[in-house]
Amino acid sequence: MKRYGHYIGGNELAPRGGRYLGTENPYTCETWAEVARGDADDVNAAVSAAKAAFANPAWSGITASKRGALLRKVADLIAEEAPRLAQIEQRDNGKLASEVNAQVRYVSDYFHYYAGLADKVQGHVIPNDKGGALTYIRYEPKGVIGIITPWNSPLTLTSWKLAPALAAGCTAVIKPSEFTSCAIVEFADLFRRAGFPDGVVNVVTGLGEEVGAPLVSHPEVAHVGFTGGEAAGVRVYELAARGLKTVTLELGGKSPNIIFEDADFDQALNGVFSGIFAASGQSCQAGSRLLLQRSIYDRFVERLVAFTQSIRLGDPSLADTQMGPIATRPQFEKILKYIEIAKKEGARCVAGGKARPDLGGQFVEPTVFTDVDMRMRIAQEEVFGPVLCVIPFEDEADAVRIGNDVAFGLAAAVWTRDLQRAMSMTSKLKAGTVWVNNYRATSFTAPFGGMKRSGVGRESGMDAVREYLDTKCVWIAAR
Ligand code: NAD
Repeated sequence: MKRYGHYIGGNELAPRGGRYLGTENPYTCETWAEVARGDADDVNAAVSAAKAAFANPAWSGITASKRGALLRKVADLIAEEAPRLAQIEQRDNGKLASEVNAQVRYVSDYFHYYAGLADKVQGHVIPNDKGGALTYIRYEPKGVIGIITPWNSPLTLTSWKLAPALAAGCTAVIKPSEFTSCAIVEFADLFRRAGFPDGVVNVVTGLGEEVGAPLVSHPEVAHVGFTGGEAAGVRVYELAARGLKTVTLELGGKSPNIIFEDADFDQALNGVFSGIFAASGQSCQAGSRLLLQRSIYDRFVERLVAFTQSIRLGDPSLADTQMGPIATRPQFEKILKYIEIAKKEGARCVAGGKARPDLGGQFVEPTVFTDVDMRMRIAQEEVFGPVLCVIPFEDEADAVRIGNDVAFGLAAAVWTRDLQRAMSMTSKLKAGTVWVNNYRATSFTAPFGGMKRSGVGRESGMDAVREYLDTKCVWIAAR
């Protein structure tokens, strides 16, 4: 069986404690590899390597344009290696091959974008009221960045942090999810092959409390970029606060997909499908609350149920499979638990609602609940699975009220042909991203992140580089 070590200082190393964790294929339910189960000693070694690399003139002394050139090289290598990396990631998290392949190819584009930004980070001269002095702003890399990611899109979510951090001139220690570490260890070696000095990119694998927590608490880690659930996010925020570190937190959501009576039905139905059932609903931006205007409620639900019941579940590596298994055993059990809670709360299950052990892996049927009340847990809490709740609304004001009536604020979508209504809704919905007549679009150019309990800070776009830079003000006396 393949055994992965940590990736520290340009080498794959065995864990100091000698312990490993099995990593399972959620379709076959077989353990196909082992990953190092790290501890605080491994974290210390990785942070030392990252600190040394940050001080190494071969990294800190090169021009921003040379950093950009290195990022371009690694972007090309990622494109070359995309099929291999996608296969590893897919074996680990069971996502559809078509989706993982597209995502990993896009990781290359992501690095190309930040390669172009590396030498566009500019300071500026500012006026002052003291006279005779030159006052200017320099932006300097923060130093060693801790990166902690979940299992749903490991390479993508790592790159959302790593690419801007490297463009800024930082170095990094990555702690991937214990369920999906293999592709990240392989990915780290591409940076060595592209010519990055050893220690610029490091990976320590293992559990959240054993590796993630010591990484966040390490005094030499300047900033933490985290994507994951709310509980771990809050813990990371607390640990970072003790060290007075900055953080970027991308947490969960309970995003409303709001369909008005004048929407294009077919287009909206596709948007509902990709919003909740793509990636088997294991997506932070999942459109898990479908808000339907009362006048189209029955008609839309009828088509939605027929559509949902036609979804093909099966082997995620096959091109005609529409929904794969759930990535991890705990997540599979959590989804089934929420389905039971919804039933007990009085929601009506009109499609799906069961596990599918006959298909082999950890499958949950695409599930739709109607008669959902906003006080129910199924309407308020993130399931992170293929479970949709449908809620009627009367008019725009009602849609805004229900749409915003959750603790989260990651994303929202509005389906209407009325431009004025679209503009009004986009301004009133409390969410970091609002789509009109589409769902799930993201880009390296577009800032992504949450309001309310969905997170802190933004990833992607030009501003993401600023998350990894400190501001320094310089005063030069003229006499
Ligand atoms: P999780 O929060 O359990 O774990 C995320 C990462 O944090 C893992 O690497 C884990 O080992 C680590 N971790 C756990 N406890 C920690 C601790 N005490 N200190 C430091 N690190 C710790 O999440 P998950 O189950 O892997 O992923 C699912 C969750 O992630 C969902 O709730 C989902 O909404 C969220 N998510 C958010 C986004 C986004 O962009 N907003 C994207 C994907 C997933």
